[in-house]
Amino acid sequence: MTTRTRFAPSPTGYIHVGNVRSALYPYLIARQSGGKFILRIEDTDQARFVDGTEELIKDTLHWLGLDWDEGPVLSGAGETGDRGPYHQTERREIYLKWAREMIGKGLAYADPYTPEQVQAFRDQAKAEKRAFLYRDHRPENPPEWHLGMPLRFKTPEIKRYTWHDAVMGELSAGPEALDDFILIKADGLPTYNFAHIIDDFEMNVTHVIRGAEYVASTPKYLSLYEALDIAPPILAHVPHILAPSGNKKLGKRDGAKSVSEYRDEGILPEAMLNFLAQLGWNDGTDQDVYSLDELIEKFSLDRVQKSGARFDEQRLIWLNGQWIRRLSLEDLYARVQNYWPASAKTASEAYKKQVLALTQDRLKTLRDLPLLTSYFFEEPTRDESLISNNKQLKKLSPEEISDLLDIVKTEFEKLDDWTSEAIQICLNQLLEITGQKPGVLFSLIRIVVTWAPFSPQLNDTLALIGKETMMARLERFNP
Ligand code: GLU
Repeated sequence: MTTRTRFAPSPTGYIHVGNVRSALYPYLIARQSGGKFILRIEDTDQARFVDGTEELIKDTLHWLGLDWDEGPVLSGAGETGDRGPYHQTERREIYLKWAREMIGKGLAYADPYTPEQVQAFRDQAKAEKRAFLYRDHRPENPPEWHLGMPLRFKTPEIKRYTWHDAVMGELSAGPEALDDFILIKADGLPTYNFAHIIDDFEMNVTHVIRGAEYVASTPKYLSLYEALDIAPPILAHVPHILAPSGNKKLGKRDGAKSVSEYRDEGILPEAMLNFLAQLGWNDGTDQDVYSLDELIEKFSLDRVQKSGARFDEQRLIWLNGQWIRRLSLEDLYARVQNYWPASAKTASEAYKKQVLALTQDRLKTLRDLPLLTSYFFEEPTRDESLISNNKQLKKLSPEEISDLLDIVKTEFEKLDDWTSEAIQICLNQLLEITGQKPGVLFSLIRIVVTWAPFSPQLNDTLALIGKETMMARLERFNP
């Protein structure tokens, strides 16, 4: 049987990193077995529907390279695949057909109660200190069902379920986990609980890979599979993503941004995928950096951890730095297009590439580019704190600084061969002439020429800035 996996997001506005991990794992499973990866839009919750989310989802998946074989097409309307429609709101008739069959078989009943009556049942259960279950209130003679009324599943057998989860292992839950849940809501649309089971079946889905929040409902689903005589797909519930503190589920307030925000900040898709894959999975080695192809080769559900995975943004940024280093200069140059400082606008491509080659190893996100490079293109703004916060330099008096810089100017004035190598020789001579340590002399030169907290190697930096600019900056400085 061909492996068929799906990512089934609800278009409710925001795409949390956890949502994307729920796309990556099924994608990897499909690709490693030559199967199909399906995108299905679960848009039956009209109250939570946010227009534009579907585009955001598609763009995000595409940006990450997680292209799907079936589902809505990347741009515009339209779908591809022969098991559609892939939007649940366009599948109403399918659910209604199943629902009517279930009524015919005595597997579903019209819910006759008003919200007030249900509340009274709840209050009564609470007063009697027992769990509220709809199945305790099944009407003896339910009214005939018609659209506009909620339709409930009539759980045929109240019993214990034991099942295997590809991540969580053997699981079991008693009858208390079973209840008569809603199949079709009053608005005529199905619930997630009903729709996903029908869709996964009709779309021949072999693996349901989703968040651990669905484990608790699994007995209800198993009971519906059984009632419908459908063999359940492989179930895999992936662990929650925890806040950096590790003691609660990651929420918007814990600093986790949407994937598009990370993209705008200059996180590479390679780093994002690498990071998400490892949020709860490892291959048992201490390898850190994985390409998508390697993930396809190495990923397996049985090495996904059962316990929550802590979200560590610093690790994402570190991985991003690792990925930036791995890019060819040409590739990196193409990707940083929108990140240069404004002052780089008039600079030549060749000069910008030289600047980039020097800073590539230090870039953690593409958005760091102005901070690391602006002094190559514009006069830096003097920042006195760089001297006053420097342990060595703050010990020097303004006169001492001035004297040192005079020597520097004199020696560099003599240098005509403005190459990194010649500059390095001159810098070494300056150490001898002044009797200073590199930590003092080189820091001083670097600060006065760049006014940046760090720079690439000094000789390379000075070589690229050029003699004229460097001399002018030394000249302008007045300690
Ligand atoms: N629409 C559900 C969600 O976004 C999908 C869960 C599933 O993968 O079945 O949580």
